[in-house]
Amino acid sequence: MIVSLKCGKCGFLYGAEIGTPKTDHNGNLIWENKTVCPKCNDVDKDLLTELGQSQMTQFFFGDLLK
Ligand SMILES: [Zn+2]
Repeated sequence: MIVSLKCGKCGFLYGAEIGTPKTDHNGNLIWENKTVCPKCNDVDKDLLTELGQSQMTQFFFGDLLK
């Protein structure tokens, strides 16, 4: 799925195809794909935007919210 992200280094907003999101046993999000900032090319320094957070909520809890 494509998730709305913000680069943790330069602050650039972009959408990234991250594959299928998962969480580890600590509840941290894990992407299937590496994320690369299209502006500064930093790898895996992404932060979720507000839209990205709601996308994650929808993905993990969407069935519960219906
Ligand atoms: Zn960047």
